[in-house]
Amino acid sequence: MKTLAEKALEACKEYDRLLKAIHQNRIDIGDGSSACDRIVETGDLDGYGNVQYIPDGKDTHLGEVFKGYISSESFEPEHHHYSESKALEIIGDCEGCLKAYKAVQERKSNKKKLGAIKRTIRSIARQA
Ligand SMILES: [Zn+2]
Repeated sequence: MKTLAEKALEACKEYDRLLKAIHQNRIDIGDGSSACDRIVETGDLDGYGNVQYIPDGKDTHLGEVFKGYISSESFEPEHHHYSESKALEIIGDCEGCLKAYKAVQERKSNKKKLGAIKRTIRSIARQA
């Protein structure tokens, strides 16, 4: 059986691992979103620098996914989130948004695990 000290060390290492993973998720979300294939660049044609924008007032695929949609099927219009399969359909072949979407899902799961490990650390502290 593990000693309390061994359990404490394991919990601290897991806590550190999760913080690093969440940090990496944040980087991947940023990198992925800015690599959306809807983004076009102006180049430096008119001396204003290279401006990036998405034509037709659209959002990135990821932005579109998280905006969700309004359904008027019920009595009052309701805001809904897309299912994972619909989200992946919207993202399509856009590698940037797919990377960001996966990182968002992973971050959610890592944050849950972080909450659990914090509770474990507190419980170890109470036993010490
Ligand atoms: Zn995209």
